Amino acid sequence: MKSTAILLLLVAFVTLSAAAKDYKAPWVEIDPSRVYRPKDLRQSERLFHEAKMKEIIDHAVSKGSVFASSVVNATSGQTICINTNAVGQKKDMTQHGEIVVMQNCSSIYGLFDWTGFYLYTTGESCPMCQSAAMWNRYSKIIFGSSIKFLYCNHCQSQILIESQVINAMGYGLNDFGEYVPAQIIGGILEENTNSLFKNYCNPGPNDTNSQSAQPACLTDSDDE
Ligand SMILES: [Zn+2]
Repeated sequence: MKSTAILLLLVAFVTLSAAAKDYKAPWVEIDPSRVYRPKDLRQSERLFHEAKMKEIIDHAVSKGSVFASSVVNATSGQTICINTNAVGQKKDMTQHGEIVVMQNCSSIYGLFDWTGFYLYTTGESCPMCQSAAMWNRYSKIIFGSSIKFLYCNHCQSQILIESQVINAMGYGLNDFGEYVPAQIIGGILEENTNSLFKNYCNPGPNDTNSQSAQPACLTDSDDE
């Protein structure tokens, strides 16, 4: 019985692998965007991002959440919207912090083009949120903890495409003129954000496991 199940799984895997091998994108595939780290930034810029990251961390904690996001006007330095993930509240798995804050800000300010605004998030944007930020043309996307950390180290479920991979493929978006990819900055106050997130590899007695995954991470990947 058990060996039959394993054989079926193997057949399914081989079939899926064969299908993937035949796939070729009908457009040019671009290497992932660079992710800037705190050490790559001038001190004034790093301090600015750290202050904005602290603001969303504090906001998350005050709301009993871990995923918080904000929109910041890069010219004035003002935070114009700040929200937390609303998945539980709205019973909608797509209400991630970035989606909530972008929709909130769009409904208030009615902009199609968010060039000149920054999007902050405690956790790296998933493919849905990264794509949404690109549709909205945010100039910089700044995160604390990486998808790799949340998935590999904390067993949190995730669609496994890093934001830098999605970011590179936005060149099909060209309707406001020449496409300028967002700049991604990762690891801002990540010691603080990393300690914010629950570790589903080792859940506490009151943690639900609906968000937990069994990571299939490569052991030779370097840890940050
Ligand atoms: Zn997301």
